[in-house]
Amino acid sequence: MIPFNIPPCVGTEMHYIQQAIASHKICGDGQFTKQCNAWMEERFSAQKVLLTTSGTTALDMAFLLCDLQPGDEVILPSFTFSSTATAAVLAGAKLVFVDIRPDTMNIDETKIEAAITDRTRVIVAMHYAGVACEMDTIMDIARRHGLKVVEDAAQGVMSTYKGRALGTIGDLGCYSFHETKNYSMGEGGALVINDPAYNERAEILREKGTNRAKFFRGQVDKYTWVDFGDSYLPSELNASYLWAQLEKADEINNDRLATWNAYRAAFQPLADAGKVELPTIPEGCAHNAHMFYLKCKNLEERTALIAYLKEHGVLAVFHYVPLHSAPAGLKFGRFDGEDVYTTKESDRLVRLPMYYGLTEEDRVAAIKWVMNFFNQ
Ligand SMILES: *Cc1c(COP(=O)(O)O)cnc(C)c1O
Repeated sequence: MIPFNIPPCVGTEMHYIQQAIASHKICGDGQFTKQCNAWMEERFSAQKVLLTTSGTTALDMAFLLCDLQPGDEVILPSFTFSSTATAAVLAGAKLVFVDIRPDTMNIDETKIEAAITDRTRVIVAMHYAGVACEMDTIMDIARRHGLKVVEDAAQGVMSTYKGRALGTIGDLGCYSFHETKNYSMGEGGALVINDPAYNERAEILREKGTNRAKFFRGQVDKYTWVDFGDSYLPSELNASYLWAQLEKADEINNDRLATWNAYRAAFQPLADAGKVELPTIPEGCAHNAHMFYLKCKNLEERTALIAYLKEHGVLAVFHYVPLHSAPAGLKFGRFDGEDVYTTKESDRLVRLPMYYGLTEEDRVAAIKWVMNFFNQ
């Protein structure tokens, strides 16, 4: 079986984990966490980055920092992971789902303005497959209406929009280092803070409501409980695993892009023949090959393709069931406008094996069986 995903491992992880153990500092905010934060700040030109225990808790922090009041609304796509929505709900938001664009599967920026009410506070830009949303338009809408923008860049680490790293364009950005993402620490994530006004509140929120971070910088002589908070610090054991991968970030990125480009080229004839649709990478977007997907004619054909591939040893999978039709989506949100693409496009989408280290042999086999299916 060719797996759909294998968690990334570059070979130096154990060395750094042992180093963390030997340092007798395995709780949060030790040397490796600091190195990871600093690496991302430098590489992505980010004002401040804080490792968190997951992409979900980075989103929790982002929405809590937006300081939502009861009845406040958050605009987001329905075609996203449940974390995007549940983090907003936890912070007290009502969800307003907006349709997606079929070419990138991202929120349709032209539908956002119509969904804004006097209770809207936040727009969420989730960069599907590591391909950027139309951020210039989204930021312009947000500024004109006085709204915050949270980027769910869980899939977008190392991707850019007009030269800027995803996660650094909105007010707050969220990364995931789950084992299914391009760079991993098992479970983990990071919050990117682009407005320094959030720095102090974010540190307090992340450190159980205390000003402990300030204390360690010598800015207060003892630390105390100052506000509500939680514990969003990952262990150094996890941070040291991630450090190994960040050191090899370009190698991982290039390896994934090579697989992605090979898939893209191989399936072009199928697209030319009108048998499948392939992902679009808009002008100005550099992606990170987080995912390779193609779109079948409909749900029936997709189900048959996934079964056929499985029969021939290739694990391909579909993706999100639209949140607005899920039980919690019905409870916490409403869909604004018409669902023209969200359900239809999600029904057709299938993802192929994609991970760091996918061999040429496996890639060629995956391509062969997809071609066979459509040419049979
Ligand atoms: C993976 C993912 C998350 C959640 O990240 P975790 O680290 O698994 O908590 C959130 N949003 C999107 C779009 C994701 O792909």
